[in-house]
Amino acid sequence: MRKKIVAGNWKMNKNWAEAQQLAAAISEQLHTLAVDQNKEVVLCPPSPFLLTVKKATTHPQIKVGAQNCHQKDSGAFTGEVSAPMLQSLGMDYVILGHSERRAYFAEDNTSLKEKTDNALNNGLKVIFCCGEQLEQREASTHFDLVHRQLSEALFHLTAEQLQAVVIAYEPVWAIGTGKTASPEQAEEMHASIRQLLKEKYGEKTAEEMTILYGGSCKPHNAEAIFGQKNVDGGLIGGAALKVDSFLGIIEHL
Ligand code: PEP
Repeated sequence: MRKKIVAGNWKMNKNWAEAQQLAAAISEQLHTLAVDQNKEVVLCPPSPFLLTVKKATTHPQIKVGAQNCHQKDSGAFTGEVSAPMLQSLGMDYVILGHSERRAYFAEDNTSLKEKTDNALNNGLKVIFCCGEQLEQREASTHFDLVHRQLSEALFHLTAEQLQAVVIAYEPVWAIGTGKTASPEQAEEMHASIRQLLKEKYGEKTAEEMTILYGGSCKPHNAEAIFGQKNVDGGLIGGAALKVDSFLGIIEHL
């Protein structure tokens, strides 16, 4: 049975005290929900707060992840954070290829391939984001685009390596806009991603991979989206910044 995950991407929000409070409150309140062994909640705060958030979360099903890492282990890359650094902090995950990183920091499939390799080599699990812009959906090139993002950055991996990767489908037009993909639109893309995985890696690997939906997922729409056959949870932005809305999403996992 594949793992179900709700991951919160805090982006560049919160100060240290707020991050600590939010993490502790999520951890405490998660005990009131029955979160079975097959489910995971991942918190991805800004880098300076990673360790604080790790220490503030005692719930066994909570994992902590970074929002990015560099493709090199170390060196003269001012301002960057490396996978070995994250590993040394005991981090579990790193988000790679978020559309904001692709848009504002020129990340492309080539650099994301290197980042993925480096993260996996350093024992981190990867939440790998893909997704189309509105123009690509309107031009009906969205399937091709997403398939290319995945094949160019991930499909050199072995099936075993892929076990440490979670795919997050995030249509860019739905991120932070309040405009969610319909459950049918999400399912259609998730099913096509799983089919692609099946063609490349076989049925077993494809069936075992967790594929998350991201883009204006909120408590009121999470149930319908998570209810789709190929949707295994969500990557949450805005609604991950408040305990009630984040928990309100997790309860539909
Ligand atoms: C995101 O940035 O990954 C995201 C899904 O944001 P939001 O939920 O705010 O649309």
